[in-house]
Amino acid sequence: MAISRKITGFLSQASWIRKMFEEGERLRAIYGADKVYDFTLGNPDVEPPAAFKEELRKLALNPIPGMHRYMSNAGYEETRRAVAEVLAEKTGLPFKAHHIVMTVGAGGGLNVVLKTLLDEGSEVIVLTPYFVEYRFYVDNHGGIIKEVPTGSNFQPDLTALEEAITPRTKAVIINSPNNPTGVVYGTDCLAALGKLLDKKGQAMGTTIYLISDEPYAKIVYDDIEVPSVFQFTRNSIVVTSHSKDLALPGERIGYIAVHPEIEESDLLLEGLVFCNRTLGFVNAPALMQRLVARLQREEVDIAGYQEKRDLLYNHLVSLGFEVVKPQGAFYMFPRSPIPDDLEFAKLAQKYNILVVPGSGFGLPGYFRISYCISKQIILNSLPAWERLARELGLNKPVV
Ligand code: PLP
Repeated sequence: MAISRKITGFLSQASWIRKMFEEGERLRAIYGADKVYDFTLGNPDVEPPAAFKEELRKLALNPIPGMHRYMSNAGYEETRRAVAEVLAEKTGLPFKAHHIVMTVGAGGGLNVVLKTLLDEGSEVIVLTPYFVEYRFYVDNHGGIIKEVPTGSNFQPDLTALEEAITPRTKAVIINSPNNPTGVVYGTDCLAALGKLLDKKGQAMGTTIYLISDEPYAKIVYDDIEVPSVFQFTRNSIVVTSHSKDLALPGERIGYIAVHPEIEESDLLLEGLVFCNRTLGFVNAPALMQRLVARLQREEVDIAGYQEKRDLLYNHLVSLGFEVVKPQGAFYMFPRSPIPDDLEFAKLAQKYNILVVPGSGFGLPGYFRISYCISKQIILNSLPAWERLARELGLNKPVV
């Protein structure tokens, strides 16, 4: 075998993802794309805001000399300043350009942060269910992932989290609004979490960083606010991107923002910039940096996502599925009506419904629906969900 044993193992753990993708392709070839209800991918079907296209056109018509060259590994000053300005406004904290490192998406940013922070054997806590790539990102940099269950409605269980902290705990990764559940962590929860990490770090003479992965921060419903983690502990680092809020996932543009009063901030920032370079990213895509500098106050049409959430959530609940109502992102994570979520996903395929089993997010017994697909496909899928519910003998709740 030419490839490493570790990657061979990772590939076999994730083989069902490939199988599901292949099954989707097979079904599309037989029934046509509009009759296959593919809820598996987090790839937004919306277009970037009009302002993006306008700025792109302006830049193409008035190119800046040298705009395709290398730059500082942290990114353009202009872009970092624009990001810092909005963060300062939101948090009241003195963010400046040097607290920002532009990255190749949130995925790239998380790898940069983890490479900078982790020693061999450092522990990183994640809350189940979680974005499964964290497992591989932590492994990339010699860390060990520690999964901690969430409590009711997928909110952090601080008692369980406290029990999982050891002197080797280097960071906790949170993700709100959450993939795969769509839940948002409120002020009380984040305040208690920040306090806990500070208290435990002080008691052990270590620093436990709160890494907040926030690519969905602007995709929230019912006028709720996503509180900023920066308000709750100074040892906080936000990693985010414009993959979802500007619908630019293929353009790979994001950033890391470091709390202005974080411990040893100069050394940390130097480390981040070094790792951005030596992971081979070198710098975030130049053209996109120019554009997002002008788009920090823009976002995609959130009302459209909310409409899809309501459509699907109301339908599933009316059929008897048990679902925590998502407050953000474009996912929901219903309980699997049968204990084996892989079996459930297979059963759903019989009705051309493709979902991801909860096992893929570290929490068996559930399944993930991604509703960033066309409203028409969601509408087309409603009778199929009904037939699936009937086969499972789900009881409609009494109203
Ligand atoms: N974090 C979460 C929770 C995600 O869902 C995703 C993408 O789906 C990412 C990070 C990676 O996003 P990016 O495209 O910015 O790398």
